[in-house]
Amino acid sequence: DYKSRVTVVGSGNWGSVAAKLIASNALKLNSFHDEVRMWVFEEMLPSGEKLTEVINRTNENVKYLPGIKLGKNVIADPDIENAVKDANMLVFVTPHQFMEGICRRLVGKVRGDAEAISLIKGMEVKMEGPCMISNLISEQLGINCSVLMGANIANEIAVEKFSEATVGYRDNREIAEQWVQLFSTSYFMVTPVQDVEGVELCGTLKNVVAIAAGFVDGLDMGNNTKAAIMRIGLREMRAFSKLLFSSVRDSTFFESCGVADVITTCLGGRNRKVAEAFAKNGGKRSFDELEAEMLQGQKLQGVSTAREVYEVLSHRGWLELFPLFATVHEICVGRLPPSAIVEYSEKKPRLS
Ligand code: NAD
Ligand code: 13P
Repeated sequence: DYKSRVTVVGSGNWGSVAAKLIASNALKLNSFHDEVRMWVFEEMLPSGEKLTEVINRTNENVKYLPGIKLGKNVIADPDIENAVKDANMLVFVTPHQFMEGICRRLVGKVRGDAEAISLIKGMEVKMEGPCMISNLISEQLGINCSVLMGANIANEIAVEKFSEATVGYRDNREIAEQWVQLFSTSYFMVTPVQDVEGVELCGTLKNVVAIAAGFVDGLDMGNNTKAAIMRIGLREMRAFSKLLFSSVRDSTFFESCGVADVITTCLGGRNRKVAEAFAKNGGKRSFDELEAEMLQGQKLQGVSTAREVYEVLSHRGWLELFPLFATVHEICVGRLPPSAIVEYSEKKPRLS
């Protein structure tokens, strides 16, 4: 069978939009089977129906992307093993904290010739040190894993507003081109870059910067302060990425996954929004509580990523080099007040 079969593992806000993009291309392109499987973490809706049944009946993810038709060729499947078993192209797009468990369940269950791509912004920190999600996937499942990151607020792409994205690949340009083909539409322009670590770290770390930007908004500090936080954040992103992987390229930070994602997430993302509410409440209501109330089942990545980054910084003795990253975590856990976001970035030494 020369046609590729695609399965999307995940069906949240961005997962559903990714399925929509892929489904439109699978129908158009001869090299892909029409059907796109989407693994759905099953849940009961208030109506008493199962989410998968409603998706398959209405062609809409009524909980995580209401009002948007995914394409009739998207088939929701609550059984993860069944969803992946025939696919040779696996698209991973869940909140990052669930990926260890998901990978454990998939060991030995995916095709040996499968290729993976991760749209997940986040990382894991283990005893041995930090582990990027694409690495977790390739190590656990024994398959190659590329990444796709970018300035991509899901709800805007869902209504087909123009945006760009970056595919990061390791060494196989042909595989990268296949992913570019699978995702590209007239309103979604995808560029391949041979820097998988750089692209993934951009997507991961910008969520920490977005939390900082949200604090600034919550404290009404204005545009200049927010721009300064974004600039310092971008600089810490680059320095941290290069310390972890010397192969990371400067040019990657000028792709959609870099500066553009910092900008869009700091203007319109969920991390920003919830961090703003946290600062407005003077840190008196926890992120968990605000997330549950404001996002209705969608998940923040920035708070846990700030903790993960902090662990790496303290293990390696780098805390002083990254005042913004370190301060975001200390504010999130209540050790510092939200206003520390500017005080501390001012006093501590800067990276050049
Ligand atoms: P989301 O924030 O909408 O999260 C909800 C999803 O998590 C639902 O599918 C839910 O079923 C699932 N879930 C809940 N509990 C679970 C469990 N125990 N095990 C497995 N799944 C469970 O998800 P999203 O927006 O699709 O985000 C996925 C990734 O994509 C994240 O890393 C995010 O940073 C990234 N991303 C999101 C956007 C966006 O605008 N939403 C844009 C670009 C990248
Ligand atoms: P939030 O998770 O903060 O909404 O960011 C979405 C995103 O990654 C945009 O590119």
